[in-house]
Amino acid sequence: MPIIRVALNVPVDTVFDYLSDDATQHDVGLRACVPFGKKRITGVIIAMSTETLVPIEKLKSAYGIFREIEPLPAALMDLFHFCSQYYHHPLGMVIMNSLPVKLRNNKSAKLKEASNNHPFSLTDMGKQIDLSSIPARSRIARRLLTELHQTATLTSHQAKQISPRATKLLQEWIHLGWVAALPIPAVAVTKTIEIPTLTPEQEIAVNAITTDTRQFNTWLLHGVTGSGKTEVYLRVIQSVLAQGRQALILIPEISLTPQLEAVFRARFPTVPLVNLHSGLNDTERLSGWLQAQQGKAKIILGTRLAVFTPLPNLGLIIVDEEQDSSFKQQDGLRYSARDLAIFRARQMNIPVVLGSATPSLESYYNALTGRYRHVRLRSRAVQNAALPLIQCIDTRVNKIQEGLSEPLIKALDQCLKEQHQSLVFINRRGYAPVLLCKSCGWTAICQRCSSRLVVHLRDKQLCCHHCGHQEHFPRACPQCGNQDIAPFGQGTQRVEETLAMHFPTARILRIDRDSIRRKNAWQDILQAIHAQQVDILVGTQLLAKGHDFPNLSLVGILHADTSLYSTDFRASERLFAQLMQVAGRAGRANVAGHVLIQTEFPDHPLYQALQRHDYDALAQTLLTERKMAEFPPYVYQALLRAEAHDIKTVLDFLSQAAHLANPPESVEIFDPVPAQMLRLKGLERAHLLVQSASRKQLQEFLAQWSMQINTLPTHRIRWILDVDPLEF
Ligand code: ADP
Ligand code: ZN
Ligand code: ZN
Repeated sequence: MPIIRVALNVPVDTVFDYLSDDATQHDVGLRACVPFGKKRITGVIIAMSTETLVPIEKLKSAYGIFREIEPLPAALMDLFHFCSQYYHHPLGMVIMNSLPVKLRNNKSAKLKEASNNHPFSLTDMGKQIDLSSIPARSRIARRLLTELHQTATLTSHQAKQISPRATKLLQEWIHLGWVAALPIPAVAVTKTIEIPTLTPEQEIAVNAITTDTRQFNTWLLHGVTGSGKTEVYLRVIQSVLAQGRQALILIPEISLTPQLEAVFRARFPTVPLVNLHSGLNDTERLSGWLQAQQGKAKIILGTRLAVFTPLPNLGLIIVDEEQDSSFKQQDGLRYSARDLAIFRARQMNIPVVLGSATPSLESYYNALTGRYRHVRLRSRAVQNAALPLIQCIDTRVNKIQEGLSEPLIKALDQCLKEQHQSLVFINRRGYAPVLLCKSCGWTAICQRCSSRLVVHLRDKQLCCHHCGHQEHFPRACPQCGNQDIAPFGQGTQRVEETLAMHFPTARILRIDRDSIRRKNAWQDILQAIHAQQVDILVGTQLLAKGHDFPNLSLVGILHADTSLYSTDFRASERLFAQLMQVAGRAGRANVAGHVLIQTEFPDHPLYQALQRHDYDALAQTLLTERKMAEFPPYVYQALLRAEAHDIKTVLDFLSQAAHLANPPESVEIFDPVPAQMLRLKGLERAHLLVQSASRKQLQEFLAQWSMQINTLPTHRIRWILDVDPLEF
């Protein structure tokens, strides 16, 4: 009897063999439901086999194989294997977690016809049907028939509004010959959109990338904010669509998908597009995934997880804002979607385009050394749109009151008078980051995390931004009883309040995770901004990414200094990217842009480079530092992360793991250290860093070491390997 080898969603690094009487070679890549212990679970068949290490009499039989959808393509299975090996994560968990939820359970997926908005009309026979021939109690049928009699055509969406059951009735009536389904009319292109003439720089970029779209290349599309990277994407996508192939576009934030989706739909109105992001419900996700898998969807727009979408005809991958850390998953399988995109492109022999105004140092370094191909856009695409003027406000000279300095307030005032929009950027949501007792120095901290509770004044709550814990505002200091406890420092809510005091007639809009929680909040906000219904925006980095606000001319930046002297070696790189991005919101069309940074360190090289818009200068400085300190991109790193209820258990475990290790000379192992944020969600955390100048040797070492770690007793510990870690 044939044996199937199944990868299951269980935390052990092995695959499982089962008997299956009807399995064939064609079933590789399909899901199978199998017994596992006392349970019944579903996994994916990764191979057929004639032999097995399990004694044949102990081999169990699979319950069945799901054949309602096509098997996962072989290339995608290769990607899963690579991902499992590279990140040292069980294959079954890699595969099953990448699938839509509806394909993970023990049922065959119910495939709904994609919700095409089919029109229906009565046939000649149908027109003869009299309402009185339908029983009075069949109210839905009567209403549907009445509706069909009255209108020439009825779409399935309209039918559904009569009743969810109406579409089923329509199907029955088609069988009876009463109703005919009409072809879907081609999408009417309401307005012809203007396709801009490429700037000389864009033209060079497009030509370079499209010259050879049948060969693997990693392109670093390095263009200042407003240089028109999107237009380059569109042209490259167009050339791949012309070959009948699919394009996968990965973006960091869900909030950006509607905007980009609108751009793509406008440019390619008849091309099927699916949007795969975590904001979808299970049914929507399955539907989008299937359209991609069947090759029907030609443009696939998605966040991180979309890198695992089966795409039979993939011709291009684009990773927009490639430096963004949200491409790296921070729990479970800690994969980098950008890095997997590059692997996938190489495997399919297609181009991958990494777009950024401020590339990650890793990518920049790869471009400098020739591993990636570097194309640059140095000027803004829109005529007359110059890069914004960036200046520092020295807060040692200009005193800050309630977060704002005099020069910034003046500039905001001027901007209001000119009826331009302004943006005050502060990367802290809430009212204030600290609740402080002025007599004993007590501050409110989270019981479960090593972090302070953030004051949310409007809800009279203290919130932990790490674990979500909330508690009521205390009336008095729990330590000394003093009633004079007060919020200290500024968050978005407090800055909003201060601005309202200074500019009582201005229309102020705050944008942070709290204010966009409501469904469609984003769309409303963007609309309000574009309709000039807002004068001053107060926002976090949510606002910084990729949005185009033509009338925005002033950006004020508060509290950026906190990241300047961080212990995290990537903090400067991130701060620069973030400030560049925020600054890039200003002056994108006909309005000149001005950026003011409040700082105590105006001479810091980072601000100096920022004022000159000189990414290269900062990148060179940081690369020199990294080289001396032996940090990435000059070495490859991995962290053994562990957590438990007390730090001693964690450190003991890490020491034991370090003892087991037998690294080659090229691999360096450091001492276990507590995480920068020791406690998170009630657990204490520590890690152990290993690094090597050779990725290959690091990988070989990790493969062996992880097997050894698996032999350690771990009942009180959770551990994981984090390859190419971004957070420490
Ligand atoms: P980036 O993503 O590089 O920051 P965008 O793609 O958002 O820049 O483009 C910035 C602005 O320039 C957009 O309003 C876009 O419509 C416009 N634009 C892009 N290319 C051209 C072009 N060739 N001619 C005129 N305007 C352009
Ligand atoms: Zn006190
Ligand atoms: Zn917490």
